Amino acid sequence: MLSLIEKLEKERSLLESEYVYLLENRTPEISELLLKKATEARKRNYGIDIYVRGLIEFTNYCKNNCYYCGIRAGNKKAERYRLSEEEILSCCEYGYKIGMRTFVLQGGEDVYFTAERIENIIRQIKNTYPDCAVTLSFGEHPKETYQKWFDAGADRYLLRHETADDKHYALLHPSNLTLENRKKCLYDLKEIGYQVGCGFMVGSPFQTNFHLARDLKFIEEFKPQMVGIGPFIPHCDTPFSKEKGGSLEMTLFLLSVVRLILPNVLLPATTALGTISENGREKGILAGANVCMPNLSPKEVRHKYMLYNNKKSTGAESADEFQYLKERMEKIGYHVTVSRGDFKPDIL
Ligand code: SAH
Repeated sequence: MLSLIEKLEKERSLLESEYVYLLENRTPEISELLLKKATEARKRNYGIDIYVRGLIEFTNYCKNNCYYCGIRAGNKKAERYRLSEEEILSCCEYGYKIGMRTFVLQGGEDVYFTAERIENIIRQIKNTYPDCAVTLSFGEHPKETYQKWFDAGADRYLLRHETADDKHYALLHPSNLTLENRKKCLYDLKEIGYQVGCGFMVGSPFQTNFHLARDLKFIEEFKPQMVGIGPFIPHCDTPFSKEKGGSLEMTLFLLSVVRLILPNVLLPATTALGTISENGREKGILAGANVCMPNLSPKEVRHKYMLYNNKKSTGAESADEFQYLKERMEKIGYHVTVSRGDFKPDIL
């Protein structure tokens, strides 16, 4: 076991079977050791800095029907909303004022937001805030569309691969959605020049350690600039309402492993992690994460962007929530910076 961890640290890679072994045989002591090494790698590359991304959930309409997701088209109980261009821009204005320099536009695959509408929004944001980065998290689109948005100024794109195993993918999605297309989108985005994020849920239905090992191999191979990992949390109005959620412990373990595979990756402590545990985000940072994504969506719509039940949302103003986040991070010895927080070349 110890030699496997040494190998992972040195070579940043294990065989698929070795990842399975590591996951199967993990103990609190092993997790602790990984966390220590992950923290070293994180500090070598990013010091104690924490980058923030203002998350703007701009629409919960979605044409897709992912079995796990609360805003899936088939959920007739979801109260749908979409933000206007003005509303999106005023979220950015507010975020800028309180010190955010990256805005993440995340939404369901809402056909109202055509390539041109999104392009316009990107241009407006980049014109008004040329010192800010724009990240999109808006699902699968043709390469031409991704190119158009990149040309308009978008910097980054988050598109979790969800699972790197075809059969598992088919258990989580209807048949019109395929891992093949998801991966194609990821490679298109990278080719265009985006900083790209892939990722997966921990403890999604039917997931085994074998699947997780494949996820880690995919991350090795794809070498994303960002990786989004959070626990699966069931939503009551989805086909997976009765399934078990993912564990805090496994999520933290995987955050540390990913930090060792890609020492300079941008790795968020996700909202889902903050939802399943009171200090989830702090624990994520201490396990190797270096990014937080506070919510910048208007208060009135936050409860409607329900990907899963009990999604963390304090009802506080974004500024108060952000202040609170800063204080909590200082308490554990980390520091929220005012910065675009771009991907940095690896410090070996
Ligand atoms: N439509 C966009 C954004 C999806 S929401 C896209 O397709 O990429 C962002 C992420 O939330 C998803 O990639 C998924 O991994 C996660 N998510 C969705 N439902 C969830 C649930 N029930 N529990 C935890 N995470 C969930």
